[in-house]
Amino acid sequence: MPSRYPIQDVLPDFSQEDCEHALFAAKWPTGFRCPRCGHSQYYQITTRQRPLLECRSCAHQTSLTAGTVLEGSRTPLMKWFQAMFLMQLGISARRLAELIGVTYKTAWLMNHKLRHAIGVRDLERPLDGDLQLLDEYYGYEYHRYLGSLLMQEALKPQPIVVGASVNGAGDIVYLKMKAGDGPESDDATRHSADSEETVERFVQKHVAHGAAHERAERLERGHRGQTALHVAWREAVRWLTWTFGGIGPKHLQAYLNEFCFRRLLRRNDMLAELISCCGTTETITYRRLVGTRSGIRPIPWAYRRPARRQRYTG
Ligand SMILES: [Zn+2]
Repeated sequence: MPSRYPIQDVLPDFSQEDCEHALFAAKWPTGFRCPRCGHSQYYQITTRQRPLLECRSCAHQTSLTAGTVLEGSRTPLMKWFQAMFLMQLGISARRLAELIGVTYKTAWLMNHKLRHAIGVRDLERPLDGDLQLLDEYYGYEYHRYLGSLLMQEALKPQPIVVGASVNGAGDIVYLKMKAGDGPESDDATRHSADSEETVERFVQKHVAHGAAHERAERLERGHRGQTALHVAWREAVRWLTWTFGGIGPKHLQAYLNEFCFRRLLRRNDMLAELISCCGTTETITYRRLVGTRSGIRPIPWAYRRPARRQRYTG
């Protein structure tokens, strides 16, 4: 089992040249294209830390990382490639920070930028062919200190749709797990209606037009399901629990995208695909990452903290 060896021993030292070549090929798979005039010839300016490419026709200068997920990052290319390599193992930001020697915040941001690239690529590939759909809920219990009291609280369950294109043998060809909006109320009778809506939205957004989704096989929710989708969902929940102690609604979608990405690709193909995703996806800022709720509606007023009382001075 490779996972029993210390990860440090298998972590490659990517050379600066290897990283530049790989990112170049991911960004321009058919060769250099000037972003301004489309010309294919360039001069390389190597005096800077990050290589700069100058168009031979219009003299427009562009950097290798411009327009990629790595744009604007001061973290060395080599560490980015190590982070991509380590994403194949599905590790937490804390572990990533230790392994590649960056701060926790940097590691968290790197992981989330990689997940962003994975999510963008996934949106470009709707499900088609024979479909199976499974609607599930994701929730977990956690502990919180309130003064000196240890409280056990439960996260409001999020409806999730697990959808896959399957072959004749029922094996997964392509897999998606998408979080819907949280249920409006805790009333159990509302849940089934909510999950119907969630499935409907999933089909609209993630199933190719013209695909016979009315023939999609709906699987029954439950712990005992033995289909490939049930097994994949249980693996996802186990990963979220064991590696992170559970994930809240704000970033859940990003983690589910990462899980499906890893589940679909074999180890050898994964790094190349991840580099390709990063080379073709524009970056996302920290502010946007922490500001969005990934398609999840705001929590209904009843769950919000009571508004702070206005303070009058003087
Ligand atoms: Zn040009």
